[in-house]
Amino acid sequence: MLMKRLAAAAAIAVLGVGVAACGGTDPATPGPSTASFKAGSTMEKLNKAQKITIGTKFDQPGFGLKGLDGKPAGFDVEIGKLIAKELGIPADKIEWVETKSAVREEVIEKGTVDLVVATYTINDARKQRIAFAGPYYVAGQHIMVRSDDSSITGPDSFKEGTKKVCSVQGSTPATNIKKYLKDEATQLVLFGGYAECVDALKNKTVDAVTTDNVILLGFVASSNGAYKLAGNKFTDEPYGIGVKKDDTDFRNFINDLLEKIAKDGSYAKAWNDTAGKFDKNTPTAPAVNRY
Ligand code: GLU
Repeated sequence: MLMKRLAAAAAIAVLGVGVAACGGTDPATPGPSTASFKAGSTMEKLNKAQKITIGTKFDQPGFGLKGLDGKPAGFDVEIGKLIAKELGIPADKIEWVETKSAVREEVIEKGTVDLVVATYTINDARKQRIAFAGPYYVAGQHIMVRSDDSSITGPDSFKEGTKKVCSVQGSTPATNIKKYLKDEATQLVLFGGYAECVDALKNKTVDAVTTDNVILLGFVASSNGAYKLAGNKFTDEPYGIGVKKDDTDFRNFINDLLEKIAKDGSYAKAWNDTAGKFDKNTPTAPAVNRY
């Protein structure tokens, strides 16, 4: 094992890519100022700056939820911290920027953030504008209803045309649900974030909320029994980390890290500390796709 590691390190050195020393996610641990990365790379730039800006969600329990300290917490946030750590940047040097579904491509293109880790489904349309490392998790679209409602049993329940469903602008579930609706104009309600959909479900403006199962599970768990999932998941949503479209070095760096944390236990720990509180099945990290 040690020999394998040494061989891998040597191979990386030959490619002219340095390896960061171990900076902890403990804010007190300073990042290694001496670490060297490929000259001119995003990794080198970020390591030298000792600062990274990460886009994530602020209203999704389990994946990215802003706490009383003003900082987000969740599985996506932990993945972001592990990337920063690999860059030699301590967790307290991460600037977290709330990034709603509809603006994710734009903030990456503009460079407002260095990366987005935000329940972000990898798909071809998005790959026209940005690039994805990952996947690091595979979710699936699901439906959430009020606990006392047994009239909705899955997406087919919307076909009759009377039930209203809420989702989020610029999200894949908002697009996927359309084929189950008789009348999009009256049945589909779109907001900027899922917390607004949950409010609409609470005050009965809508009959259901649809998005990824893991997001909905977070809302179910924090609802005191008010909501439940209906039916089964009906899509696959592989989550990726969004970076600039042409930044293949940074994408490879993140993919290498994802492979590393899948093996060294930090992926499982990140899950168990966050979304694992609602979903006890610790996922096996999916194979990364280096397209
Ligand atoms: N994974 C889906 C997407 O990327 C839904 C979750 C979200 O809106 O963040 O659109």
